[in-house]
Amino acid sequence: MSVIDDIRAIAAGFGVTLRHMLARPVTIQYPEQKRVPYPRFRARIVLTRDPDGGERCVACYLCSAACPVDCISMQAAEGADGRRYAEWFRINFSRCIFCGLCAEACPTLAIQMTPDYEICKRDIMDLVYEKEDLLIDGCGKDSSYNFYRHAGIDVTQPRGEGLEETPPVDVRSLMP
Ligand code: SF4
Ligand code: SF4
Repeated sequence: MSVIDDIRAIAAGFGVTLRHMLARPVTIQYPEQKRVPYPRFRARIVLTRDPDGGERCVACYLCSAACPVDCISMQAAEGADGRRYAEWFRINFSRCIFCGLCAEACPTLAIQMTPDYEICKRDIMDLVYEKEDLLIDGCGKDSSYNFYRHAGIDVTQPRGEGLEETPPVDVRSLMP
C-alpha cells in the first residue's frame, strides 16, 4: 500500500466524521418531546370489553400458555349464567418482552397491545399489573366483535344458534 493510499483512507475516515458532524441530530429531548410510535407498535397490554360492556376475557389460559416468559397468570371462575371470567388476572411487566404472542393467541380479542410505552417505574413491584390495572372501558381494536354472540355463553346453547354458525348436519341424511 502506498502513502497516497494511506492518505486517501484517512481522508475518507475524516469525511465520514465530518458528514455526521454536519448532519441534523436525531436526538429527541424526551420527555419534553415525545416520539409518536408507529401504528403497530407494541407496548402496554390492556384487557378490553365487548361492545355490550362485558369483559371479553374468558380465562382460557391461552395467552398464559403462549407467553414465552411466563409473565401472565390468572384464576378462572364461572358466573351464575355459566359465563367464564378471570377472577384475577396478573401481568408482570418486568418480565414482558412485548412480543405480542399473547394477543395473537387470544380467541376473544380480550388481550391487546397498545402503543403506550411510558410504563417505567422506580419500584419493580409496581410493574405487576392486576386485572383492575389492565381492564379498560373500551373495545380497543375491532370494536364490533363480541365473542359470546358467536360462541354462546356456555355449552348448553343449542347448536347452530351462534352468530354465523351453520345449523348442525343430521349425519343420517348423508348416508347413501
Ligand atoms: S407480550 Fe409476549 S412476553 Fe409480554 S405478556 Fe404477551 S406473550 Fe408474554
Ligand atoms: S386474555 Fe384471551 S387468551 Fe388470555 S385468558 Fe383471557 S380470553 Fe384467554
